[in-house]
Amino acid sequence: MDAFSFFEKFPTELSVIEYFIKVRYTDKKEAVCPHCGSVGRTSHRKDMPRVFQCNSCNNSFSVFKDTIFEKSDTDLRKWFYAIHLMLNSKKGISGYQLQREIKVTYKTAWRMLKKIREAMSNEELALFQEISEIDETYVGGKPRKQAKKDRDDDDDMPSSGNKRGRGTNKTPVIGIVNRALNKVVAKVAELNEQGQKLSGKQLIAFIKETVESDSTIYSDEFKGYNQVSKHGYKHEKVDHAREFAYGSVHTNSIESFWAVLKRGIVGIYHHVSTKYLQLYVNEFAFRWNNRDSENLFGLVISGFY
Ligand SMILES: [Zn+2]
Repeated sequence: MDAFSFFEKFPTELSVIEYFIKVRYTDKKEAVCPHCGSVGRTSHRKDMPRVFQCNSCNNSFSVFKDTIFEKSDTDLRKWFYAIHLMLNSKKGISGYQLQREIKVTYKTAWRMLKKIREAMSNEELALFQEISEIDETYVGGKPRKQAKKDRDDDDDMPSSGNKRGRGTNKTPVIGIVNRALNKVVAKVAELNEQGQKLSGKQLIAFIKETVESDSTIYSDEFKGYNQVSKHGYKHEKVDHAREFAYGSVHTNSIESFWAVLKRGIVGIYHHVSTKYLQLYVNEFAFRWNNRDSENLFGLVISGFY
């Protein structure tokens, strides 16, 4: 959707609120009155668009009850336009860009982006079945040496002498793509008891919470994956040095997600702290997972709490 279509679809704050009600409450049917508990017995008046009037007990309550919009003073159209911008730029947008686009303070813009990322993080996926690809990548932080060279390199290339950042002090991110669903789940690796950021134990734990046992995992030859078949999975390794891109045993899908993530993080978010990296990763995963969805807006709105 381009900017013109956006403003055609949402010309007024009322239009935004009506859209919100449609998505959130399936047209008022699911609105629950917090005063008397009756369901779907509400009226919505155009002259008081931010409240529902309960037809059972006559009390009123916020249309945005239990969401971040309930206490937000920011024009709802600004929220929606921010979501629109995030959904329509492959690389995402920065707080500075949003600040300029919707005329709010940087602090407000930054907070809005964070909230939208949190909403995008609430997408729930069923456990992956059949074939999934797993891989790790390294983002952010300062490379240990040869800063310039490292920056110019695409360190995702399997031919790179540096084993794709293993051994640098960048932050590891683990990702799994399911082939059939074409969906990705990615997780920032945290320090474990030994102070290691990435261990076989973490990889296995992530596989278990993402993939159903008995299904198939494709990975590269990183030794961290050595135990995968001992945990109830069929495991095939791709030898990047010799068989890259040959046959169906490859990890091209997850690698193409890494490419998008890294272009975004290098290009737009120059300094992502480890603390917020998971939210950025979720944002990219959400866009990637729902790139063909016709109801992207609705999906984000449903994710707001
Ligand atoms: Zn009521």
